[in-house]
Amino acid sequence: MFISEALNINEKGHLTIGGVDSVDIANEFGTPVYVMDEDLIRNNCQLYFKSIKKACGENGTALYASKAFSCLYVLKIAAEEGMGLDVVSGGELYTAHKAGFPMDKVYFHGNNKTKDEIELAIKLGVGHFVVDNKYELYNINEISEKYNKVSGVLFRIKPGVDAHTHDFIRTGQIDSKFGFALETGEAEEIISEALKCKNISIKGLHCHIGSQIFEVKPFIHAAEIMIDFIKTISEKFSIEIDELNLGGGFGIQYLDSDDPIGYDKYIGEVMTVVKEKTKEYNLKMPKMILEPGRSLVGSAGITLYKVGCVKDIPNVRKYVSVDGGMADNPRYIMYNAPYTALIADRADDKNTQTVTIAGKCCESGDILIKNADMPDIKVGDTLAVLSTGAYNYSMSSNYNRIPKPPVVMITNGKPHVIVKRETYEDIIRNDVL
Ligand SMILES: *Cc1c(COP(=O)(O)O)cnc(C)c1O
Repeated sequence: MFISEALNINEKGHLTIGGVDSVDIANEFGTPVYVMDEDLIRNNCQLYFKSIKKACGENGTALYASKAFSCLYVLKIAAEEGMGLDVVSGGELYTAHKAGFPMDKVYFHGNNKTKDEIELAIKLGVGHFVVDNKYELYNINEISEKYNKVSGVLFRIKPGVDAHTHDFIRTGQIDSKFGFALETGEAEEIISEALKCKNISIKGLHCHIGSQIFEVKPFIHAAEIMIDFIKTISEKFSIEIDELNLGGGFGIQYLDSDDPIGYDKYIGEVMTVVKEKTKEYNLKMPKMILEPGRSLVGSAGITLYKVGCVKDIPNVRKYVSVDGGMADNPRYIMYNAPYTALIADRADDKNTQTVTIAGKCCESGDILIKNADMPDIKVGDTLAVLSTGAYNYSMSSNYNRIPKPPVVMITNGKPHVIVKRETYEDIIRNDVL
């Protein structure tokens, strides 16, 4: 019945997460509140490793795409589980550093890394840069020289694969701000440029074809294109490619109707193709890297709100307003992302009506779920939105000067705060009179 293994219903009919009563959590920590289950995050990490090991032995690894949810505690979990890390900004890098994440396992992504960010990464000893454009390549080379270092780089390639997902989260197409195109010769050119850079060491290639993908085919297609390109450049430049990073993008369940691919199936099928092709072309089997974000943390999180107002507009729509909204979850307003919600106080209740769950921000588009099938709802009820572990806290804002909610982690059946609720003082902290 539930779209996450972390969730259940207790004898009071309350929704539980990680075995803890969600209504108690809402009462103890206040609302809105993000709640996450540590066990499920760790299980997800372990599942990836198991599947990778099964498919390619020790010659593969997984990086956590930390933009999905980055804070000290979650990065500590990722490090303990043996994951590498994908960061895309100085702030994500700094968080990794402060969490004590092993820097040699950090991959620095992004389509416009500033010189300051590159310098910070080199100083901290970041293992790999995923290079997106030529300006960046020259900057990394120059700054590496200044620190007397050689930086390992991967190149982000646009394999031109359509992953049938929403336009805003589709990144493998030629019309993308990310990476080097194959068709135009741009990708070959950057390899040739990198070979001229004394402080650059070419490690591998990277692609990321999109997000929330439910099919194996686009991943296989992208892998084939990448291996073809490895063949081309191996012959043309007499180089070996050590690493092939196929990115993230594995879909998770937001709705009952979503049907995610099992990691095992996905990884198994993709690796089979990679192995066959490298053998056929007589290439060295590269180390295979996957970069999941959403699928590690998404279903491990829920957000709890209190219902403050129910407004029935006869023959038009019934609005249920909660004490959060687009400031803590901007995914509906950004790309109409769908979610499932429950009344946590009566999680067993049958659906009786269709309502629109709205936030409290001054935007008509501030909606959490449009046309949600819900049971009867009263003011004061606790509303739980499911699968909010990824791209919610990390995309939250202070719009309308709303303090960000806390993040409560359930560890071995005990809730504890891993990110504090912001205060009004936090809101004005950087204001200068
Ligand atoms: C966002 C992103 C990921 C993770 O994507 P998910 O859909 O969260 O798995 C991985 N790699 C890159 C380069 C990304 O931009």
